[in-house]
Amino acid sequence: TAGLMAGKRGLIMGLANHSSIAWGIAKACAEQGAELAFSYQGEALLKRVQPLAAQLGSDIVLPCDVGDADSVDALFASLEEKWGKLDFLVHAIGFSDKAELRGRYIDTSRNNFLMSMDISVYSFTAVARRAAAMMPDGGSLLTLTYYGAEKVMPHYNVMGLCKAALEASVRYIAEDLGRDGIRCNAISAGTIKTLAASGIGDFRYILKWNEYNSPLRRNVSIEDVGGAAMYLLSDLSRGVTGEVHHVDSGYHVVGMKALDAPDM
Ligand code: NAD
Repeated sequence: TAGLMAGKRGLIMGLANHSSIAWGIAKACAEQGAELAFSYQGEALLKRVQPLAAQLGSDIVLPCDVGDADSVDALFASLEEKWGKLDFLVHAIGFSDKAELRGRYIDTSRNNFLMSMDISVYSFTAVARRAAAMMPDGGSLLTLTYYGAEKVMPHYNVMGLCKAALEASVRYIAEDLGRDGIRCNAISAGTIKTLAASGIGDFRYILKWNEYNSPLRRNVSIEDVGGAAMYLLSDLSRGVTGEVHHVDSGYHVVGMKALDAPDM
């Protein structure tokens, strides 16, 4: 096969349905000739993920709950058995209690703080370490973050802290694995209507705000994120690691409401 990703094998974690950012990235990878494996969380998602994987020519669909170390070990053991080596990994996983994705950050409970950090931050480190052990010829690791790591966004609360820690982990992992030719980067995606995002308070308002006020005057699509992921996952970005790349219609450069933005 031809394409930027020809001859590369990659694991996609975090596909839930056709709206998932993981789906935008997976489609782009397949279009560029990559061979793909998928992990899904919980039996309920299998019936959604399996047909999507099949659509991209993949029959490697494995369960993995990143909150359970045995489950993560089992995933990588299966993959090792099937493929032996890996060229890239996409981590598109995040979770927090919906009840705390509204109101004030300061009211975050200890339990939800620890759980959100575990699922949304530590999981990337845990899978990066296991993936790296399968990358003797180097590779590329990619995770997904959000602007709420850098600036206060309404309702994002504990997830903002999680994404800040996730972005810091990208830099530490880049240093740890760089000497082995393994790169580690993040895409900071603009707001997209997905299952995870619908848990955030006033998300429709936030979507509109981003549409009216970003330089491109539109929200990004999962295909836009997929396009940028091709750069970070392929050899085009061979000199790039530890980077947080914004795919947000330029929203992160803006300092004020656009003068042509309609009243909301
Ligand atoms: P999504 O709901 O489609 O994907 C989230 C995925 O996380 C799901 O597949 C879910 O099964 C998985 N997940 C949650 N807990 C898990 C666990 N314990 N074990 C294994 N998997 C688990 O939503 P999405 O918006 O595509 O989210 C993907 C990533 O993109 C997340 O990290 C999210 O924070 C990030 N992101 C989203 C937006 C947005 O606006 N949608 C913006 C920036 C960043």
